[in-house]
Amino acid sequence: MTFIADIRAVLEAQLAELKSRQTHLSADLDLPLDPDAGERAVEVEDDASLEAQARLVAQEINSVERALLRIDRGTYGACVKCGEAISDKRLRARPEAALCLACADKNE
Ligand SMILES: [Zn+2]
Repeated sequence: MTFIADIRAVLEAQLAELKSRQTHLSADLDLPLDPDAGERAVEVEDDASLEAQARLVAQEINSVERALLRIDRGTYGACVKCGEAISDKRLRARPEAALCLACADKNE
């Protein structure tokens, strides 16, 4: 397998796993709250963290989808900010990375 084919397989697996997490999270969020007040306080707290998780998962899905789009367009592996090549090592560690290390550092 070529490097890009490898990366695409990893990204597609990540996307499938993220989407199933998203489905589970939204199913959990749709559950009616327990009418018992004591239980309800706990569930509201749970919901808040579920919502935070759901937001995070949605963000991750977005960056994985954008990475797949860059593969389709043939721009994958180039930093979206400065255009420099992102190192293979970084791409293997974070296949969805859109920025080279230098730009990612500046961003933080
Ligand atoms: Zn850059």
